[in-house]
Amino acid sequence: MGLDFGLENEPPTGCAPLIILLSQDVGPSAVIASLKSLGLEVEVLHLGDRTGLYAKDPEGQIPAESISRIPGIEKVMSMAPRAPLAMRTKDKGCVTVGPARFGGGFVSVIAGPCAIEDPAVLKTIARLVSEAGATVLRGGVFKVRTSPHSYQGGGLEALAELRAVSRESGLPFFTELTDPRHVAQVAELVDGIQIGARHMQNFPLLLEAGRTGKPILLKRHMAADVEEWLLAAEYVLTTGNEQVILCERGLKSGESHVRYLLDVGVVPWLKQRIGLPVIVDPSHAAGDWRLVSALARAAIAAGADGLIVEVHPRPETTRSDALQALPPAEFSRLMQQVGALAALDGRQLCVAQAAGAVGR
Ligand code: PEP
Ligand code: MN
Repeated sequence: MGLDFGLENEPPTGCAPLIILLSQDVGPSAVIASLKSLGLEVEVLHLGDRTGLYAKDPEGQIPAESISRIPGIEKVMSMAPRAPLAMRTKDKGCVTVGPARFGGGFVSVIAGPCAIEDPAVLKTIARLVSEAGATVLRGGVFKVRTSPHSYQGGGLEALAELRAVSRESGLPFFTELTDPRHVAQVAELVDGIQIGARHMQNFPLLLEAGRTGKPILLKRHMAADVEEWLLAAEYVLTTGNEQVILCERGLKSGESHVRYLLDVGVVPWLKQRIGLPVIVDPSHAAGDWRLVSALARAAIAAGADGLIVEVHPRPETTRSDALQALPPAEFSRLMQQVGALAALDGRQLCVAQAAGAVGR
């Protein structure tokens, strides 16, 4: 058990199998002796004119890259999956958050402002997005801003406002938590925890958030490859919490026509391999409200289990992400299109009661 890191659900690492290719013109005996001295069990593999070894580490403690430092070894290939807990979610159903279902044939949309600012405006946004068919409210109270001089969010006071509007509107909410020390304090107040792109590798935060048992919306860092993203999800899964929703939100690139480059291909790639729902944030990817709907449609057409969209009726008044805030009428049109696109491949859009019965 990795007690040092507080991992509760660490996968068994024993017997991690390795395939080892020996350097040309090196006999196996010295390498075998070194491996055995480290406690590994070894079998020789005859690979044409090359020699290989099949090695098992019963304790599962020695990384493949350490083994590769033994003289006489050309290459070591670990046969253990890097993210075994994520791989084990293959037959998982959907993640449910109140009326929203993500995955398992259901599509749901999270919508709201970037940041919680004015409670009256928030109330209007909640009503409008709910009428349009969103099933979860979003909004940041601990904002992660590139500049310390930008608006940092309303903190606990804004969280109380968000919760009140959520309860009144009947929409559960996700909000971003940024500090592991806050998690226990606010976990009981939130319906779901967003881990923002910049905190994807804040490992103590991932563990604390996972331990709450609440649904975790895990955004991909703008420079993370898929493996790093899945290993971040793995941290949450080690706590025994399988309520993880992955969110693609675009990658850093040299381009300036969009804020981030949306990786649409990762949606079907992940859906073919693991059972965790995958949603897309077209707002932060686009950075421009006029591009948001098109990216959102592309995401649903690619098989995304949902969207998280920033909506604001008066973007000129907001201090956070004004350029990408979708006007409510545009959001409403998008929701109609999302319902139609989901139905095209036999899936169902979950909609809030204010918008009518589930599915359209
Ligand atoms: C957000 O959702 O408001 C946000 C800051 O997103 P990201 O972490 O993807 O930048
Ligand atoms: Mn934002």
